Amino acid sequence: MIAVLVVTPLLLSSQISTTQAAVKAGAKCSKVGSKSTVGAKTFTCVKSGNKLVWDKGVKVITTTKQSVQSISYANMKKSMLPKPVKNLFRYHYSPNAVKAYQEKIESELNYSMEYWASVYDGTEPFNVFYATEKDMDWLISAWKTYNLDEYGYTAREYKGRLEREGNQLNAGSVPSQQGPSHLSFFVSSTRPIPDSMIPHENVHIVQQQLTKSRTDQMPCWLREGTANLFGNFQIAEKYGLRVYDEAKRSDMNAYQSGSVEIRKFNDSEWFTHLKSLEGNFSGGCDYKYRFAYGTGLLLSEVLMADGGFEKMMDFWRAFSLDVDWRKSFKDIYGIEIDIWYKTKGVPYLMQEYARVKRY
Ligand SMILES: [Zn+2]
Repeated sequence: MIAVLVVTPLLLSSQISTTQAAVKAGAKCSKVGSKSTVGAKTFTCVKSGNKLVWDKGVKVITTTKQSVQSISYANMKKSMLPKPVKNLFRYHYSPNAVKAYQEKIESELNYSMEYWASVYDGTEPFNVFYATEKDMDWLISAWKTYNLDEYGYTAREYKGRLEREGNQLNAGSVPSQQGPSHLSFFVSSTRPIPDSMIPHENVHIVQQQLTKSRTDQMPCWLREGTANLFGNFQIAEKYGLRVYDEAKRSDMNAYQSGSVEIRKFNDSEWFTHLKSLEGNFSGGCDYKYRFAYGTGLLLSEVLMADGGFEKMMDFWRAFSLDVDWRKSFKDIYGIEIDIWYKTKGVPYLMQEYARVKRY
């Protein structure tokens, strides 16, 4: 439930492929029949009179480009029409909370919620807390007022984060718990709250509502993957499509603090990996190495491309029932989850990871 990715919307991808400058229609070439692809066209070297020149080229058909990603994105855009919403939150700020970030939290949450106007049916204001590294005690007692951290799990987790991260502290979460949850930001006063964080956490609020507080039953690839999917969609709608690619690459690379090189996985290693991401954070889903975030995003893209937005919402809602989610998956998507992993999920993971470079 924790997003710490920083997306810099203005950072442009600078991967411009280098090609032979000379290849263009009418320019000289040296071997008849040879081909060269430049941009969106493939040129063929042809004889013209007694010269060899590149022809006018044919457009490269990129069937893989009408990709899972673009269909998924189009499906979100079609179904998630932003509508004005009333304020759905109750805000709590610690004594040292930075005013500018308070405003950012409020405007970004409101922006994010507009996309969920058709599905979010919570009527109670959802509690949002923002505290800095100096205000841990304030935060814990503020939760107590609403009995939001009954067993102290989140307090323990945040204390650990503070010890490890110090003035780089950057925690935010909607804890998966029975009954009311909350959104809390526990962020160093010297750091801005990352752009990607607020829409991502807002997705968890919607999940919490639609599952009737049973997000702890979701496989973590789904919980984190769809939070990334919709969160990235919303920041891309705001800052431009390129930001989606940036955020996706960052999500996919997030595993690299670990020691496993998932880009070298074969089919069966991927399958084993996916099964391990069916757990939750106290089980097999390893927060530390962040595997669920990138893998989950890719799986969520496939689901969004194939089934669309409404089915995704049906799938989320199914977690509110006392039904094994694997059965719900089959009922909604018409395929056994393990077969879907093997025939849809793994091929897409391998394809996407093959084209993503290291940082
Ligand atoms: Zn999350």
